[in-house]
Amino acid sequence: MIVRKNNHALSLMREAGKRLAKVFEKIPLVIKTGMTSKELDAFLECFLKESGMHAECKGYGVPPFPAVSCISVNDVIVHGIPNSIPFKEGDLVTVDICASYNGYCADMARTYFIGKPSSDKAIELVKAAYNALDAGIAMVLIGNRISDISSAIQTVVESHGFGVVRDFAGHGIGKKMHEDPEILNYGNKGKGPVIEEGMAFAIEPMITLGDYKVRMDADKWTARTADGSLAAHVEDTVIVTSDGPEITTRL
Ligand code: MG
Repeated sequence: MIVRKNNHALSLMREAGKRLAKVFEKIPLVIKTGMTSKELDAFLECFLKESGMHAECKGYGVPPFPAVSCISVNDVIVHGIPNSIPFKEGDLVTVDICASYNGYCADMARTYFIGKPSSDKAIELVKAAYNALDAGIAMVLIGNRISDISSAIQTVVESHGFGVVRDFAGHGIGKKMHEDPEILNYGNKGKGPVIEEGMAFAIEPMITLGDYKVRMDADKWTARTADGSLAAHVEDTVIVTSDGPEITTRL
């Protein structure tokens, strides 16, 4: 069932989005060569606490996710567990956080380069991820169907010759981190539920420089590209309004 939020819920979702976006603003100030993803996660835990937010990822799932953020480096697509490997020049690092404020969630991911990007293709990959995210969000209109978002994302990504990951998807969001509907990042338009006012979605293209097939690590969380190619992942939380898509996680 897709929950349509009332005005009170939407105002709390806006506040959660704003607070999470402010946490993300601090990442470029601290992320650097030699820092480990575990150290970055410790910073993020402080930032979330300071902003009064509850990290939804920590303790989630089986086995329980051990950190407040998913930090996915280079060939890791999503759900990277923060570890003790130092970031090095050229690394492509995605930070993904879902956090709640007064019981309502915001979900957001951004991809960063450590120092100088490793190649022009890597730069294009990140640009394509943001373009795909924007194209998907532009479809969040009353009367459209969910797969209109999926199709727009796939079209942008494949126009660059990049892969669209099939094994993970965007989702509805509200009181819970994951609500209905599932929002695939590929597929033909015109399918799935009709988009209505008051719905809220986390839209999150996950894209690869090579093939889209996924390999899971033994930790049961870390999802990598099977061919070892670079991956990028960006995400925003979006509310459906009569004026069009409202992105809660951009300031
Ligand atoms: Mg998400």
